[in-house]
Amino acid sequence: MKSGDVTAWEAWEIARPWVKDPRVEEPQRLFHPDGWGAGEMDLVHRWDGTVRICDIKASAGTSGYSSGLVGQLRFYQWLWRVTRDLDGRPTGRVVEGPLSGLEGWYLSGPFRKMVDLLDDETLESEVERWKNTHEQMTSSGLHPSDLAPADPAPWVNHAPGGNPLPVTDEKAAKAITCERCTGAAYCDAAPELARTKALAILASPDISDSTKLAETLTPTAPCTPISEIPRRLHVKGTLKGHWGPLANHFGEEVRGATVVVGSTTVVVEEMGAGAFGEIPEGEDFALLDVAPGQWRRMARLYLDEHSTVKPVAEAGDVEFTRLGLIPTRANLSGLVVSRGGMSGVNARGRQWSMETCHLWDGEDVIEVVAFGQSIGRTFQNLRVGDRLRVLAGELGWRDGVPQLRIDSRQTRLEVKSPEQT
Ligand code: SF4
Repeated sequence: MKSGDVTAWEAWEIARPWVKDPRVEEPQRLFHPDGWGAGEMDLVHRWDGTVRICDIKASAGTSGYSSGLVGQLRFYQWLWRVTRDLDGRPTGRVVEGPLSGLEGWYLSGPFRKMVDLLDDETLESEVERWKNTHEQMTSSGLHPSDLAPADPAPWVNHAPGGNPLPVTDEKAAKAITCERCTGAAYCDAAPELARTKALAILASPDISDSTKLAETLTPTAPCTPISEIPRRLHVKGTLKGHWGPLANHFGEEVRGATVVVGSTTVVVEEMGAGAFGEIPEGEDFALLDVAPGQWRRMARLYLDEHSTVKPVAEAGDVEFTRLGLIPTRANLSGLVVSRGGMSGVNARGRQWSMETCHLWDGEDVIEVVAFGQSIGRTFQNLRVGDRLRVLAGELGWRDGVPQLRIDSRQTRLEVKSPEQT
């Protein structure tokens, strides 16, 4: 209340009806119907009869990270629009009304930043840009050197409330962004100082000099460079035995089928929920640009938006891989540059757990994953800075990028900690 009586509107502002319930640990995300974008809004309110999307920050908004708020809210503007009429929403539900505003609430202050809605045309071109970025991030056929070199955004300081201050020295401001970037150690575009500092945190002193690094990390037999992992191939055969959508090992609803040639059968599956769509059925189909992998010691092929399935007669002049020769394992080595892990209970009430690390071989990075009982003590004890060799890891895929998975019986891990070097 600034003056006079408290109005219902003011009371609602104070009561703050959260859309994201902080007591609920599970994500409460909105997913783009095509599956390539998702977001979780802090608060959506309709106190004045129109919809306003608010993002809540614990800070006063003075850091360079505040630059992201405008893009974040405009992404929500679009996501809100494309998720209003999805199948499966209840009939007779409340119709929310038009979207009238985007706001950032900085609680330390407090400050409120009002962000203009984009008009339809500008929003569409932004969406094109986001989709393009997503495609680049998930194009497993692309080697990083096929992409444009990284170009950091300048670090912009902000006045309280997320108001950007002018940048006077763009080069210096870009260097500050790189100094804060977790990828600086292995980014060719990072300034030397930022790269050396990041490397010193990750690597033991003997290799933290970037001139020695490439030489030290170069894979030696039987390991191969990460860039040589077979990413896409073409197979042909009869498609049958369809199923799904059914939950895969990540709990995502995917479609699957088998491809059969003579007595050899290989499972084909969508790489993620809705990653490919309906798989046709019948004889003499060519499966083009499918990703090879393995699950439970059996070869498996993954389909995503970069894959096509068509009659062999229409496939043109392509070289097919025989089903029995699909590459399913890899030997890789490198430096552990990140560690992670998660556990929980899946939709069927079963416990699950996974541990991850990222391995960098001086040129490329790959995620290494161990699920459930495959998480041995060696993996559990892995630390950032360790040198790791993974022998006979299973090839798998996640969101279009390759993963190396630990098979408890066949994969061997060799670790050299910084103290041992
Ligand atoms: S270090 Fe990070 S911020 Fe800098 S160019 Fe590379 S990826 Fe971009």
